[in-house]
Amino acid sequence: MGVRALGIVGGVTDLTPAILSLPSIELESWLGANDAPAYRRRQIWGWLARGATSFEDMHDLPKPLRLALHRGFRITSLRPVAVSKADRGLTTKTLYELDGGHSVEAVVMRYAHRSTLCISSQAGCPIGCPFCATGKFPFGRNLKAHEIVEQALDAARALEAEGRRLSHIVFMGMGEPFANYSAVVESVRRFTDPDLLGISPRRIVVSTSGLVPRITQLGEAKLPVTLAISLHAARDELRDVLVPINRKYPLGELMAAAQGYAEKTGRRVSYEWVLLAGVNDTERDARELGRLLARELAHVNLIPFNPVEDTPYRAPDRSGVRRFKELVEAQGLNVTVRDTRGREADAACGQLHERVMKGRAYDAPDPTPAPPLPSQGSPRSRRLRGVEVGRAIATGATARKSS
Ligand code: SAH
Ligand code: SF4
Repeated sequence: MGVRALGIVGGVTDLTPAILSLPSIELESWLGANDAPAYRRRQIWGWLARGATSFEDMHDLPKPLRLALHRGFRITSLRPVAVSKADRGLTTKTLYELDGGHSVEAVVMRYAHRSTLCISSQAGCPIGCPFCATGKFPFGRNLKAHEIVEQALDAARALEAEGRRLSHIVFMGMGEPFANYSAVVESVRRFTDPDLLGISPRRIVVSTSGLVPRITQLGEAKLPVTLAISLHAARDELRDVLVPINRKYPLGELMAAAQGYAEKTGRRVSYEWVLLAGVNDTERDARELGRLLARELAHVNLIPFNPVEDTPYRAPDRSGVRRFKELVEAQGLNVTVRDTRGREADAACGQLHERVMKGRAYDAPDPTPAPPLPSQGSPRSRRLRGVEVGRAIATGATARKSS
């Protein structure tokens, strides 16, 4: 995947609030205080959803209001610092710097009839699964709801420019969404809000390593998203290693919560299984998985491992993937293998961050033209596009310390 650095990674913080950091009611009272009717809030959100990159673009707002908005708010708090692409531009990953200097990735995957965004909920991840690039660097912080939403708006903007629509969102980027539960739920409400993105909750997948109380809580919230559980092992002694939160919430508790969720919502739970050669792809693993899910309303999604440096794990080859799929099917389970493209993009959570921070961003140039530049970049980052890679990366060393 070729990588293009866009600007300097350095932890600059602009204290002007981002417009979406205000709940709708607060924005409406701000509008009131600025002699504007409350319905202007919907117009502003509509512009944001259509990819406006400045308040000046919001033509149907009176000029004095556009000026007041410009003085009072930023259109987004995210600063794109690197973009990488694969699959001839059908997959693009953006690394964003957040206020305070941490950074997160988001991946857009373009298909014939849909466009999916893989989104981050935390800078880093406190769970520390040993095969995951995100789990390797120190935990940074929880994202605020508006920082999650801004990733989607940036993707929607890029897709709109290509004549596409953002149709699906998966919380499979950096972070454990349930360790940042309230911001994630709030961001989902905004994604589904017809005034903003209007995405059906059924097209939103929240993936968790298994924070049991939150699974139960989500089952009680009226939020019909798809729940995905990162299982990866069907016996405690292996899952304790692969997904360390299992030591706190072992399989028995996890499966009871998942079953409760499926019963309460009537929705099928999706179970993810990252395939690690010789570790969890044996006949024994398939049998254990079959036993674990025998009575569940379940779907299994096999994810061939996307190799991460400095881990002892290997990906199985194609025939190994096929063989394990057949073994799982023989258990009577509904199973799919994540396609190669999705796999490349999804599984790489944390890898662009790692590559930029290690200063190896140019090791695999992609021959296809660069994707359109995220236009929320500061004038400085726009100027830096593609030319100041070395500097951006050198400065990245500073950000690494702070992240
Ligand atoms: N923290 C959440 C969501 C983000 S990770 C979770 O773990 O569910 C999304 C999915 O990508 C998880 O199933 C995770 O196990 C998987 N994953 C992480 N690193 C991977 C890698 N290198 N190769 C394949 N899948 C990976
Ligand atoms: Fe965190 Fe998920 Fe990576 Fe595990 S796989 S470290 S839970 S992001």
